[in-house]
Formats: sequence, structure tokens, C-alpha cells
Amino acid sequence: MVGRLAGKNCIVTGAAGGIGLETCILFVKEGASVILADINPEALEKATAIVRHFNADAKIKNVVCDVSNEESVQKLVASADEWGGVDVMFNNAGIMHGQDADAVDTPERIWDLTHNINVKGVWFGSKHAVLSFRKHEKKATSVINTASFVALMGAATSQLAYTASKGAVLAMTRELAMVHAREGFRFNSLCPGPLNTPLLQEWLGDDVEKRFRREVHFPSGRFGEAIEQAHAVVFLASDESSFVNGTDFVVDGGLSKAYVTPQ
Ligand code: NAD
Repeated sequence: MVGRLAGKNCIVTGAAGGIGLETCILFVKEGASVILADINPEALEKATAIVRHFNADAKIKNVVCDVSNEESVQKLVASADEWGGVDVMFNNAGIMHGQDADAVDTPERIWDLTHNINVKGVWFGSKHAVLSFRKHEKKATSVINTASFVALMGAATSQLAYTASKGAVLAMTRELAMVHAREGFRFNSLCPGPLNTPLLQEWLGDDVEKRFRREVHFPSGRFGEAIEQAHAVVFLASDESSFVNGTDFVVDGGLSKAYVTPQ
């Protein structure tokens, strides 16, 4: 199939929801072979059926994976071997916990849980992608790691463990980009703004005050959609971005550039 990602084997973590699912749909529409990975088996099956609907001819499979467990990530990446190895690794799985708060009130176990998934998960995904790229002698690959706009801006509505974890993703990705640049392995961070996905919307619920506290700062006046992130990921995954490396790729409706927003 002709497409912007034709011939590329892509792994997406956190594929059963939000950004991950929309990305898998665009990936298969652009001719990629896709491995969907998620910790939630039921949601993963449903997501895989949805993705198949968009390209019945595409090579698609799924693997249940906990990104905070290295053996699980190793098996996930190895599952691309029978296709000739992974070309694009989208380390996207992440959590934002309801008990994540400020320096005083964040429980240590919530800090550890958040960092095990959001930081170690990205490290394991990057590590096993590099090992696979070398094993299969790949020369032009792309790793995209999902960070967040909160890694760039301070919020008085604190979720300290999450914010720190996303800062770590930015720093780690930048360094990986430098270390592996001469091998042809690109690493970029995706920095989404606040989105209309379960991760944030379930957390905000119907708390009008909590919503207003945030929405007043949106220059565009709305939450972003997962598909708007997915379009950016397609660009970063494709050879169109062959000279884009080590960036904090911000897709936030202008939020991180705002001082005073329109009324
Ligand atoms: P989502 O909750 O809709 O999807 C996340 C997926 O990750 C879920 O399907 C979940 O089952 C999976 N997951 C959770 N823990 C996992 C684990 N240990 N191993 C494998 N999979 C696991 O969230 P989303 O909004 O699509 O978020 C995707 C990424 O974008 C996350 O890294 C998140 O931090 C980041 N992000 C989201 C927003 C936002 O406003 N939603 C903003 C900035 C960054």
C-alpha cells in the first residue's frame, strides 16, 4: 500500500485509548504495519478491532504489555521480529493518578507508580527499540516519547509526580537523540496540551470550578483532540521529519506561548 508510512513496522504503547488509538488508526491508513500494546486486555481487543476496520489489508496485531516491566517490553519489541523488526516506536502509555498532588500531599507509592510507568516505561521502550534497530541493521528509525506541556510550564494546580515524570521524559529523549544520532535513530518528544481524552476528562469529571481554573488559560478556548496529536505523531514517525531530532514537539493550541488569552 502507498502511504506516508508504507513499509514501516510501528509499535504503539497505550494503544487502547486516547492518543494511542487515534495514532494506530492514522498509522494503518498511511500504510504502516502496527502492533498495538496496552495493559488493559479488553480495551486492547476492542481497539484492535477498530483499527482493523480502517485498513483490512494492513498487518495488525496486539500484545498485552505493562511498560513498567522490562520483560514485558522486551517481549513486545521482539514481537516485531517476524516482520523484520521495529522501525517506529511510540512510547505513549502514561498515567496521571487521582492522588497525585503537591510536595506535601503526594503519597510516595503514587510517586513511584507514576515514575515506574511514565519514566521507566519510556526508558525500557527506548532501550529495546535501540537493541532491535541494531539487531535488524536499521538505518532510519524514529522513536517518539509522549511527554506533556506540563514539562514546560508551571501549574499552580499541582500534580507533582506527573509533572516531574514528564520533565524526565523530555530530558531523557533529548539525550537519547544525541547519543544515537549517528546511527540514524531519531528521538523526539511529543508535548500535548490538555486533551479531551479519558486521562484528563475522567479526572476533571463534572467539577465546574476545576475545569474553569484551567480553561481560562486556553488561547483556543477548548481542549485538544487526540487526533490532533496523532497527526503530529505521523509526521514524526515518517521520513518527512528526517531532519527533526531531539525536539520537544509541542501540540497545545498555543497554551505554552500564552500570557493574556482572548476573552
Ligand atoms: P488515556 O488514558 O486515554 O490512554 C492511556 C493508555 O495507556 C490507556 O489505554 C491505558 O490502559 C494505558 N496504560 C496505562 N498504564 C499502562 C502500562 N503500565 N502499560 C501499558 N499501557 C498502559 O490517555 P491519553 O490522554 O491518550 O494519554 C496518552 C499519553 O499522553 C500519556 O503519556 C499522557 O500522560 C500524555 N498526555 C495526555 C494529556 C491529556 O490531556 N490527556 C496531556 C499531555 C500528555
